[in-house]
Amino acid sequence: MATYNTMQRASILSFLETNIGQAFTVKEIVEGIRSDSAAGCSPSESTVYRIMSDLVKNGIVRRKISQNREYQYRLSNDSMGRISVRCKVCGAVQHIDEKVCSEIIDELKKNASIGTDGDIEILGICDKCK
Ligand SMILES: [Zn+2]
Repeated sequence: MATYNTMQRASILSFLETNIGQAFTVKEIVEGIRSDSAAGCSPSESTVYRIMSDLVKNGIVRRKISQNREYQYRLSNDSMGRISVRCKVCGAVQHIDEKVCSEIIDELKKNASIGTDGDIEILGICDKCK
């Protein structure tokens, strides 16, 4: 059944990649894959649990406990709110250091009534276009 498992693993990963910036419970992952007909398979919750704990062990996915005490999973390379600066003239994109990002996001949470759980884009003008 190795091939079958690999397929399910791939569809879980592609589901998480499509929805990068969000965390999901196993139930939500199962539903998400089922509603995506292109995935071509519908793994059971226990299968997804098994695959997810494997992905957590390998460091591909991070796990946290939600407010309803359920496990939520997100991709590890999804650094929880990345900030990019885009030049509005030429469209060049620069990424801000992860540490600085989390500081900015913390400040936003303190000062604004709207939090962010995904990517932030700041528009500016790059050195070349100044
Ligand atoms: Zn530019």
